Amino acid sequence: MDNSLKKKIKCPVCKKPVDWEGNPYRPFCSRECKLVDLYNWFNEEYRIKDESEEYVGEVEDGREV
Ligand SMILES: [Zn+2]
Repeated sequence: MDNSLKKKIKCPVCKKPVDWEGNPYRPFCSRECKLVDLYNWFNEEYRIKDESEEYVGEVEDGREV
């Protein structure tokens, strides 16, 4: 019964089992994994932004020609 209180989760980054209770970085196991995930998410945002910027450039080019 005591075990059910101690919920374990799997860190989405490194797949290590982590305690849910008292874990400030959940669902991650550590600050590092949280940062890695944030970084990945950020990179994806960047890529989308980059592509739209490129698209705007193409339009400008088209107008010039
Ligand atoms: Zn981890």
